[in-house]
Amino acid sequence: MGDSLRVAATVGSCIAAFLALATTFFVWRRSRTTARLQIVRDLHAELITASAAQDRHTLGCLHWQNRAVNPDEAERSKVMHAYFAMLWRFEQLHAGRNVLLKEVGGKRDVALKMLDEQVYTHVAEYVCTFQVIRKKLTESNRDDPVFDGAYRETFKQLCLSLADSFNDQERKTRLVAHGNNTEKCICVCHGMEAKPPLPTQRCQGAPVPGTA
Ligand SMILES: [Zn+2]
Ligand SMILES: [Zn+2]
Repeated sequence: MGDSLRVAATVGSCIAAFLALATTFFVWRRSRTTARLQIVRDLHAELITASAAQDRHTLGCLHWQNRAVNPDEAERSKVMHAYFAMLWRFEQLHAGRNVLLKEVGGKRDVALKMLDEQVYTHVAEYVCTFQVIRKKLTESNRDDPVFDGAYRETFKQLCLSLADSFNDQERKTRLVAHGNNTEKCICVCHGMEAKPPLPTQRCQGAPVPGTA
């Protein structure tokens, strides 16, 4: 009788320990998922801040209208600033996404699936935008090259990694378009007639060149 009670107590202790362990694991996994989803929200939020919207407007107008960049310093530096600011935002996205990927051994959990769905359109749009804007910046002043090699490479890595995550062939194709500087993608900008730059905007009262 005594032995039976001792065995029952031992089994009961084992079950209690197992349940405690399972509960701890469940709570830990749930809090980790919550933390990962918060990182996803933060990464996506960086692409839609007010300053990002302003930079995207600056680049988007030139891109979609196929308009040349005015070589005047005011517009060119504004476009250059927006171009690099967007490259840096995608660099931050790539770094954060890599941390999330490594944490789960490269598997696409719910957080990564959510992130990839949220950022796909943003990234795909910039495959063409970066190519087109870079060309316009270069053409507007060939004496002032765009030194963006490392950041452009990081963006390319982001595109390749994202393309790896999707089974959809159309998405894969969009993310790896513009592999060199000569090809065109499905973006409608390639069908737009090229437009000259907007006239130089001058501050009220500033002298007009050649009239001073
Ligand atoms: Zn394109
Ligand atoms: Zn385009």
